[in-house]
Amino acid sequence: MLPRKNFKSPFLKKATLLLGCLITAFLLLDLLFPFKPKVQYSTQITASDGTVLHAFLSPDDKWRLYTNIVEITPLLQKTLIYKEDRYFYYHPGINPFAILRAAGRNIFTGRRTSGASTITMQVVRLLEPKKRTYLNKLAESFQAMQLELHFSKDEILQLYLNLVPYGGNIEGIKAASLLYFGKAPQLLSLAEITALTIVPNRPSSLRPGSNNDVLKTARNQWLQRFGKEKLFEESVIQDAIEEPLFVKRLTAPKQAPHLALRLKKDFPDQPIIHTSIIIQTQKQIEEQVKNYVNRLQSMNIHNAAVLVVNNETMAIEAYVGSADFNNPFDGGQVDGIRAVRSPGSTLKPLLYATAFDKGIITPKTILNDVPSNFNGYEPENFDQHFNGQVTTEFALANSLNIPAVKILKEITAPVLINKLKQADFQTIKKQSKDLGLSMILGGCGVTLEELTRLFASFSNEGELKQLRYTTENAVSKKGEQLVSQDATYLLNNILTQVTRPDLPTNFDNTFHLPTIAWKTGTSYGKRDAWSIGYNRRYTIGVWVGNFSGEGVPELSGANTATPLLFSIFNSLDYNSPKGWYKMPANVALRKICAASGDIPGDFCDHQITDYYIMGVSPYHKCRHLRWVFTDTAGKISYCTYCLPEKDFIKNTYPNLAPELIAYYELKKIPYQKLPAHNPSCERIFHEGAPLITSPNDGSEYFIQTSEPQKIQLSCQTSIDVQEVFWYVNDALVKRGSPHEAVFVSPPVGRVKISCSDDKGRNSDVQIVVKKI
Ligand SMILES: [Zn+2]
Ligand SMILES: [Zn+2]
Repeated sequence: MLPRKNFKSPFLKKATLLLGCLITAFLLLDLLFPFKPKVQYSTQITASDGTVLHAFLSPDDKWRLYTNIVEITPLLQKTLIYKEDRYFYYHPGINPFAILRAAGRNIFTGRRTSGASTITMQVVRLLEPKKRTYLNKLAESFQAMQLELHFSKDEILQLYLNLVPYGGNIEGIKAASLLYFGKAPQLLSLAEITALTIVPNRPSSLRPGSNNDVLKTARNQWLQRFGKEKLFEESVIQDAIEEPLFVKRLTAPKQAPHLALRLKKDFPDQPIIHTSIIIQTQKQIEEQVKNYVNRLQSMNIHNAAVLVVNNETMAIEAYVGSADFNNPFDGGQVDGIRAVRSPGSTLKPLLYATAFDKGIITPKTILNDVPSNFNGYEPENFDQHFNGQVTTEFALANSLNIPAVKILKEITAPVLINKLKQADFQTIKKQSKDLGLSMILGGCGVTLEELTRLFASFSNEGELKQLRYTTENAVSKKGEQLVSQDATYLLNNILTQVTRPDLPTNFDNTFHLPTIAWKTGTSYGKRDAWSIGYNRRYTIGVWVGNFSGEGVPELSGANTATPLLFSIFNSLDYNSPKGWYKMPANVALRKICAASGDIPGDFCDHQITDYYIMGVSPYHKCRHLRWVFTDTAGKISYCTYCLPEKDFIKNTYPNLAPELIAYYELKKIPYQKLPAHNPSCERIFHEGAPLITSPNDGSEYFIQTSEPQKIQLSCQTSIDVQEVFWYVNDALVKRGSPHEAVFVSPPVGRVKISCSDDKGRNSDVQIVVKKI
């Protein structure tokens, strides 16, 4: 055995050495001249089912859509490899036999043919086009082997299918199947695949749609060849040959344009961005918005935006940024979902839920909707009327302004601002230092996206979660609790009541009302109409208005935005199978006095039930009436200090707040007044001093010396006050009824205004009067 081995070794040794040298040289050259293909793809935005929603041209203006390996079906693979490079899976990038055969043919015919090109070599040429010289061919062969070294066969095939030209600026199988056949590559038939695989040979003369007959003839020739070679069954080939060829160049899909642009900017290097958009929902709502806005054109209302969130997954299922992206006159390209606008009343639900959590109110707590002055800020209601005493739920469902400002004053603006910061309201984060009580009536900036996310937290029982635009974002299991589940339950019940003024005025019986909770908003100057609604499955945000910011007198959240919200809910989730919210363990019902919302006392004969949060909601004994001693005629009242030994009776009188008395006096609403206090009483009273409502403490007044104006003095007093005394710099200027408005001409400089009542209780304010 040994001699034999020795006999063979010199040749083997040489051969091994040569091979070793070649491999080392190849690896060295590979290190020195690395071949790293860089392909600039078009950005594709896909819907949740993988359908291309929207495609953009690549940076070099090609329709070059990235094809995934899964989109390359066995049928496509088989046809292509048979036609282009039968030994693709066996050669190292170059096919020596094919080269020899082609070289022979070149010598004998004197013509150059490209028959020797493997798929790998074609990929090299597509990546780096060069002149067809023998030297370049050598370089291409080297690079082909480099590709084989660094990429799998499937990856090389994928590169080929992504780069191969199909006429015009269409490159790659995905763009070709989408723009010629209007479908994904996986759905192509054998006939369509065959037609497409022969286009790259002569991309201009065989360009689909330009000369379909020529293409069909060429297609059928190849199909017959496949038949002869028994590549497919005879019947399959026959069907393919009989298949007509209808091709025309289609336009690239352009759905959800605002979202597509947004995501392309967010993920610039990602060839495919998988969104959570449900394509049917998107199409349907785009259509609904367009038709709806068309009907509003005559009112000079030109735009709307809608965002649909799946509450369970927080996935965005529809994103309609404007009524018509292609309408430049009405700012169609503006993304209404991210535009910063005034929220109107849409932040009130968060305020009330926060107040439920702080134990300040329950749904039936009585609030005073009366003219109020908050350090010079005098808000009015939308309809410029006041409602006197109202329940909390009425105040929220009717979006009354004064109760909302009062509640905000009580919980303080910074508390609400912190909640909004927690809910990721970007503009409010920036504005936070400048925001005051007016923010609850719309004096701040929000986006439809932020509002819809906020309302989705109400639908998720107070749990705040991030919105998901792409399938890459993981579903967050647990969110942050923005408000308690208990407070959200109370809120959801209030926002579902169907007897509400923010139902559209033209609401007729033919229009079905789905069970949803919703809140409307109309911004100052009637520029923005909002309606944000939710049930267990969806949260839908609707904005209607003009991107120019132009206000429209007819515009309101109830009449302009709510009908669109309802019609979307009706088409998307009418009679939601998910039911409504269950009462949390910590929420219970209790009896309260209807006159106050507090725990009933002895004299509270009108008792009703109300929800409350155990251990959180206020527990006050009702004081809507109080006992008062009077003489037997009921003309003089006594306190314990001056109560005579006999000839008195004990009676109940309403315990009205000074602001409510002032309102009743203003509106001439009759109310039960307390008899005047015993004139001979010498008791000194401390609590319940008059509240000066004008002028405001610390305010500045400018008066013209030529024509001095007067300033108004007004106050609110306790129910037992009959007379007040006004002083300017400690000099009495007027005595009269507490409800009488008094006008005085103040001196210039720092001025002290005082008000005393008939019980000797006194209040002061300081103002500064300047000349102009
Ligand atoms: Zn009561
Ligand atoms: Zn007294």
